[in-house]
Amino acid sequence: MSNLIIKQIPCLSDNYGYLVHDPQSGATITIDTPDANAILEALKEENWQLSAIWNTHHHWDHAGGNAAIKEATGCLIFAPKGEADMIKGADHYIGEGDSVSLGAHAVQIIETPGHTRGHICYVFNEERVAFVGDTLFSLGCGRLFEGSPEQMWTSLSKLMALPDETRIYCAHEYTKDNARFANTIEPENTDLQDRIAQIDNLRGKGAPTIPVPLGVEKATNPFLRAQSPAIRTRLKMENASDSAVFARIRQMKDDF
Ligand SMILES: [Zn+2]
Repeated sequence: MSNLIIKQIPCLSDNYGYLVHDPQSGATITIDTPDANAILEALKEENWQLSAIWNTHHHWDHAGGNAAIKEATGCLIFAPKGEADMIKGADHYIGEGDSVSLGAHAVQIIETPGHTRGHICYVFNEERVAFVGDTLFSLGCGRLFEGSPEQMWTSLSKLMALPDETRIYCAHEYTKDNARFANTIEPENTDLQDRIAQIDNLRGKGAPTIPVPLGVEKATNPFLRAQSPAIRTRLKMENASDSAVFARIRQMKDDF
């Protein structure tokens, strides 16, 4: 049973900040720091005390608010080991196999290089909640700024191994744009059509499309569907490796 409270904070043009609060211990963390003011405001609104910043990667719209938030709250900063040179001043650098905790909740660190070389995701296994930063988006995935397609495919495969009911918290609301592309890759996918109808409805009301269950992404997100016979036929890649199919789809999206 999950008794975490997750507060989703729209930041900048399309980022989401997240505060995660454990009522039992009173501890609160923020996943990344896209906008220091927005996050400090949200803390004040809830009357929560910030214990720590958990960074997923070094991009400015994820770690840019670290210093201001640390100064305002005295919180600790946890940052990916693989990006210690890019995220200065963290208290702890963490990577695969490490775990952090929020009160009594243990959180698993998964390294997912590809978007950046040291990107990490935070998984609350018991609560079936994963904060995936810019690795996985609904109907999309992060652009490959610092990693190869093979690396990213391996990273996404680690996330795909989580239980289907895991709620995926992405760092951006890119879903509607992603849906336009996804629909060109696998238009015959009825699960995708259902999800697109849901997305149009949610965005029409100004509501977020995030979080999304991993099972829905596995059924609809072209970047997780390199095995799909329909996609392979469309791309004329029937006998290619999964990572080669993924690489082609990533390239097509970059050119879309
Ligand atoms: Zn990024």
